Amino acid sequence: MARVIAIDGPAAAGKSTVGRRVAEELGSFYFDTGLLYRAATWQALRQGMPVDDGPALAKIIDTTAIEVRPASVGDGRLADVWVDGQDVSWQVRRPEVDRHVSAVAAHPEVRAALVEVQRAVAHRQPTVMAGRDIGTVIFPEACLKIFLTASPEERARRRLAETQPEAGAEAFQAVLEALQARDELDRSREVAPLRKAPDAIEIDTDRLSIDEVVQRIVALARARACGGQ
Ligand code: C5P
Repeated sequence: MARVIAIDGPAAAGKSTVGRRVAEELGSFYFDTGLLYRAATWQALRQGMPVDDGPALAKIIDTTAIEVRPASVGDGRLADVWVDGQDVSWQVRRPEVDRHVSAVAAHPEVRAALVEVQRAVAHRQPTVMAGRDIGTVIFPEACLKIFLTASPEERARRRLAETQPEAGAEAFQAVLEALQARDELDRSREVAPLRKAPDAIEIDTDRLSIDEVVQRIVALARARACGGQ
């Protein structure tokens, strides 16, 4: 699929920041699939639904209008997320969603309910799509697959700088542990686990600037004439 660039990787590896910039440079649409799982989790928690009931969670998804669009408000949000007509762009970033989203996303029924939404996005326009299983499951035929990584400490440091810039060592430890717990669940699930596709190019971002990572991916995309330019 010459229209899709897949960017997968663990939590807080920089997929959104990098993916958005790559999409801008190539004139593509950027889509963060994590927001779909976050919106579904937020809706389930709001309805008091246990996160261990896959079929019930899938039913919630089927009967909920989830919309993810480019940010329409300049309040620092990275995207608009609407659930049944309500703007939940900030709510889906809350710690309780962080804590439960990987359990929700591990259910095969939940993943099946979200597959077509993701494929439809890239059928409408050239897309840079970020997630965990884009290169392995959603678009195994993507014309460029990137697996973005960074050490857990670097990812925790970046996440903290973004969300609580004043925080100290204790908060760092809590963020580090939460990221690692989420990665462990995402890696060990049976369906569509987080892993590098055999034909993906791994970029370790620990010692690279955002610009360097973006330029590396844009050059790869241009060399393959993919991503919509
Ligand atoms: O990317 P983000 O950290 O917002 O994703 C939140 C969670 O959604 C991940 O930890 C993972 O459990 C789930 N997810 C997934 N597959 C994707 C994208 C996200 O399972 N393609």
